[in-house]
Amino acid sequence: MTDADPRRAIPRTDALLMLPPVRAARARLGEHVVRGLVRDAQDRARRGDLAPEQVESAVLESLSGQTGTTLRPVLNATGVVVHTNLGRAPLSAAAVEALVAASGYVDVELDLATGARSKRGVAARAALLAACPAAEDALVVNNGAAALVLTTTALAAGREVVVSRGELIEIGAGFRLPDLIASTGARLREVGTTNRTHLRDYADAIGPQTGCILKVHPSNFAVHGFTASVGLAELRPLATEHDVALVADLGSGLLSPDPLLPAEPDAATTLAAGADIVTASGDKLLGGPQAGVVLGRAGVITRLARHPLARAVRADKLTLAALEATVSGAAAPVTRALHADPDQLRSRAERLAAAVGATVVAHDGRVGGGGAPGVPLPGWAVRLPEAAAAALRTGDPAVLPRVHDGACLIDLRCVPETDDGRLLAAVRAALDRIG
Ligand SMILES: *Cc1c(COP(=O)(O)O)cnc(C)c1O
Repeated sequence: MTDADPRRAIPRTDALLMLPPVRAARARLGEHVVRGLVRDAQDRARRGDLAPEQVESAVLESLSGQTGTTLRPVLNATGVVVHTNLGRAPLSAAAVEALVAASGYVDVELDLATGARSKRGVAARAALLAACPAAEDALVVNNGAAALVLTTTALAAGREVVVSRGELIEIGAGFRLPDLIASTGARLREVGTTNRTHLRDYADAIGPQTGCILKVHPSNFAVHGFTASVGLAELRPLATEHDVALVADLGSGLLSPDPLLPAEPDAATTLAAGADIVTASGDKLLGGPQAGVVLGRAGVITRLARHPLARAVRADKLTLAALEATVSGAAAPVTRALHADPDQLRSRAERLAAAVGATVVAHDGRVGGGGAPGVPLPGWAVRLPEAAAAALRTGDPAVLPRVHDGACLIDLRCVPETDDGRLLAAVRAALDRIG
């Protein structure tokens, strides 16, 4: 390095760290994060990608956008209500409030009246039972898969889970239910065929080795044509006769029937039809945080709760708080989006389209999350040039549209109406960027 080397002019680390905005950032960000951003800017200057006099502003700029998380909020303009890649259900305002309230010290396992230890999760349990009176007891675990793992482990490890070949499903991202069950040490006793399973298939398979009978809702596909399956009401006498538990994995988490989704099973109806317990996700149609919910007979749920594995899949205080608030609160965002009024969606879409000189087209939303395949949710979308999609995704706020048929479609179903202004600004900015 010579005296004339411009790299000599790169500001030193200690000088950069003493700049007032950098010192302020050090109060909210970890030291290693701040130093990392300083080093990045200096490195860019050393490589010649940045002039030495630009280092300071580059550091300030990178710090200004830096928050505690790099996860970015996204406006979901796809029309897919339970969007797995966007974190499934968005939380209700009540759930967010509960989450924040539970984030500090909280009486999750303490009875404040007596000062004695209390049972974890009693409040979430009470809320679930109030919303689903058909259940005698409830247990909340980490997610739907954990609910199934705990169930098959506690009821059937070393024994058999009797399940129809028509219900051995893969859910998504290579997650296969049969593999999950086999991983617990339970053996799968497959009965029937892909398209047809009869009561006698179950009857022939049940014996001393049976741990439980499992019915799985094939949430993400439907078999049409020459089909037959056995309902819970038919299986109930068989389960009683052999004294084995009848388990139904619902997936979606509806607690009671939704007339919009007649084919989607719900906990109340499934328990009334004869299931001993149902398992479901908290963040699909229930509209809450990631959780697994088990509802049903007290005796079976006690067996699950007492199993050592229950500790490994237990829900944390934030989940319990958000789930309780979701179940007890007003309709969650997922429910609102599902039941959005098409006329209102149309007028919102027309307003947005008029503001940017675009057109509105009919567009069906979807339930998503592997639920209710083939059920369209009639609505509307603003049609933009396909090139707008990338600009929208990388804009601020980030917007995820649907790219279909050579167009970028903006469906307002899952965008809260209070965000229409931000969405319009994002669309304008995206259209400007693509010219
Ligand atoms: C989604 C789903 C699961 C898994 O639930 P997670 O909450 O994703 O772990 C299990 N069974 C069915 C039928 C499902 O739809």
